[in-house]
Amino acid sequence: METAPRPVVERRELIESIPAVGFTEDQQQDLFTQMYATGLPVSNVQTFVRRANDRGHENVAGHWAQGRGEFAVYDLALKDISEQRLAVIVHEGAHANTPRHESNAHLFGGEDSRQEALMHVTHLAEQSLQTGKFIDGYHANLAERLRNPKHPKHIDKETFIEETWAIYTEHRLTNPAKLAQVQVAQQRAIERNPRKFKDIDGYQALISPPESSEATGLESALITLLDGVENKAELQKHVATLSRRAAGFEESAESMDVAEGIIISLDDWKRQELTQRIAAMLLAPAGPNNRIVRFRLDADRDNTKQKLAA
Ligand SMILES: [Zn+2]
Repeated sequence: METAPRPVVERRELIESIPAVGFTEDQQQDLFTQMYATGLPVSNVQTFVRRANDRGHENVAGHWAQGRGEFAVYDLALKDISEQRLAVIVHEGAHANTPRHESNAHLFGGEDSRQEALMHVTHLAEQSLQTGKFIDGYHANLAERLRNPKHPKHIDKETFIEETWAIYTEHRLTNPAKLAQVQVAQQRAIERNPRKFKDIDGYQALISPPESSEATGLESALITLLDGVENKAELQKHVATLSRRAAGFEESAESMDVAEGIIISLDDWKRQELTQRIAAMLLAPAGPNNRIVRFRLDADRDNTKQKLAA
């Protein structure tokens, strides 16, 4: 859809100028703050809308309506803890800035770069389908719906690619450790049976090592897209800041040192993420939004709880 270019204003001001319908004052402020923090462009967003999880939408957390530029956040996400809500906002924000639409070319630095981003995400979608290694449960569920034409919620390949883009972006910004795991799983599947995967046209890397200055194709697309992120190092910093802000704290150098000492046997990705979270725990006062609970949730999500307990 064609929209008139907005005047150049500060990003925060721009976000606050978008009508938000149905939210409480606190919910709206939280939404604006989190949207701002993601760094994702908002030029396609015409309205933010709060929606109830009524019949047929029991498990929906968010929705992006391309035609009307509507960014919907459901009560389910509003009830979630901040980190989960951030993931929903990034996911829908990714749909709002998808490389699948030619009208979004300028967001990717031109038509060639948009097509390149689309090619990378199409490869990732294909690679996930062929290896059967998916980013999360939702991604796996979508694959099932794609493969089964009789599924009541059958989807086409285009939709699967679109969702792969949103799920990838969500994880790259809010849960990179998970992408590192999926990357290893996909690589192993291909290495174990190279003949079976001979049709995969070049391996699509999901994530570069934390210390590497070189970005993968998918990361490069995000670097171009995100406001205030110009290179791999800044992407890295952006993700770390986002995670700390979502958890509502800034760690101190001292707590980071103690946390480093606790984490001794995890791989690099998990170590980096968990160090920050343990640092947060050490600083955390007990309270209604107990950060230790959040920490456990994340540990569960990454299947690292056992290792932590050991
Ligand atoms: Zn989606």
